[in-house]
Amino acid sequence: MREAKSIIETIKNAKRIVITSHKSPDGDSVGSSLGLLRFVQALGYNAVVCHPDPCPNFIDWVKENDTIIDFENNPADVKEHLEAADVLFALDYNGAGRLGNEMGELFTAASGKKIMIDHHLNPDDFVDVAISDPSVCSTSQLIVELIVASGNSDLINASIGNPLYLGIMTDTGSFRFSSVTSRTHELLALLLKSGVKQSDIHEKTFDNNRLDQLRLRSYIIAERLEIVEQYGIAIISVTNKEKERFHYIKGDTEGLVNVALAIEGIKVAAFFVEGDDMVKISFRSKGDIAVNQLSADNFNGGGHKNAAGGASFVSLEETIEKFKSLVPKYF
Ligand code: 5GP
Ligand code: MN
Repeated sequence: MREAKSIIETIKNAKRIVITSHKSPDGDSVGSSLGLLRFVQALGYNAVVCHPDPCPNFIDWVKENDTIIDFENNPADVKEHLEAADVLFALDYNGAGRLGNEMGELFTAASGKKIMIDHHLNPDDFVDVAISDPSVCSTSQLIVELIVASGNSDLINASIGNPLYLGIMTDTGSFRFSSVTSRTHELLALLLKSGVKQSDIHEKTFDNNRLDQLRLRSYIIAERLEIVEQYGIAIISVTNKEKERFHYIKGDTEGLVNVALAIEGIKVAAFFVEGDDMVKISFRSKGDIAVNQLSADNFNGGGHKNAAGGASFVSLEETIEKFKSLVPKYF
């Protein structure tokens, strides 16, 4: 990684480092944040992680004794940290808007040096140092590259390695997507050699479901799945009422859109989740079909070619109808 030197140079003498990542945290945003946190702490820096919202339950284990200060519950603390930081990292996102409006404005206004490390397309110009590589499977892989390229491989231990392994694992569908390369496996090997226990990580992350969660997921697939055969499209959705019935908590439907995509003959899957003030949408596709453009054009979103997301501010039914009406044009 060419930029490793300039990052190490930028954080030199920093008294307060703040590490931020995007809204609706996932394995990669939490993993890259905690991996970088523990790495800079091992270098002797004082650092904190500030995210827009709390860490989802299924990856709560990876926090160990660390705290992620979330803006949703502690806006004043986050504000204070952003304002006082002399270095701010932006991990796994490509524009301040991905922090949400309020935290995004605070990030933009902050006077510290800003460093982005990310793998999303088309980054905004919002930082002083930018590492942007959309060919890399995950931001967590970029953090491992940073550690290696800065000559600090020997600092990697299980505590640093676990979140980074988690981030690579979750952003690659457990190492199966085309974004995984031989380099990914070389870096994973380094993590395993440093004490990471991969079977523990898989078990803690994936084999820890609440019964209500399993029932909600089963219900959605059994009762709320619609196939548009002509175009090879699967649509799943869930209402607020159904979420209540199964005592939904954030993260319960994580990855469910991939189950819809795994149906024989399906090339595009869309998942519409009704919320209090919007419908959150996840899109997935196979092969050359791109879903990020459709999301950017019509649903205030974006993302990667095969995995994108967005939001809609009309009813669940209207949102699904809108999506269906766009299908002939895009696919
Ligand atoms: P997910 O379906 O897992 O929520 O999101 C998949 C991917 O789509 C994310 O990694 C992110 O790149 C992108 N994405 C999700 N939601 C949004 C959004 O609201 N805006 C933008 N620009 N990208 C999103
Ligand atoms: Mn990512």
